[in-house]
Amino acid sequence: MDCLFCKMVEREVPTEIVYEDEHVLAFNDINPQAPTHVLIIPKKHIATLNDIEPADLETAGRLQYVAARLAKDKGFAEDGYRVVMNCNELGGQTVYHIHMHLLGGREFTWPAG
Ligand code: 5GP
Ligand code: ZN
Repeated sequence: MDCLFCKMVEREVPTEIVYEDEHVLAFNDINPQAPTHVLIIPKKHIATLNDIEPADLETAGRLQYVAARLAKDKGFAEDGYRVVMNCNELGGQTVYHIHMHLLGGREFTWPAG
């Protein structure tokens, strides 16, 4: 399968990994939109949020848990931060392997653009 994020899981492309466990990988975004911009992905290939199945629920929840843990580790959990998952074209998804953006270290506005 020609999937960039699967290649990161397989260590086939250079990646700045910041967290890894059996089901999840987290790495720095190549084009950061905040002082901290980490992508948290399931190791299993799931193309979009629409493709999550009941068997994936624990892994999906783990993405959120890892985001909060990284926010605490990086010291901005109490001040606040933003997590985002973009879905399909109108949602701004460009890589079709689900990923949670963890953005921190600055103030964010709402609504998102
Ligand atoms: P999306 O637009 O699908 O929500 O987010 C895709 C993200 O992947 C973007 O923030 C983009 O900067 C990031 N990205 C794309 N290619 C690479 C890459 O080769 N390495 C890393 N670390 N991030 C990438
Ligand atoms: Zn993939």
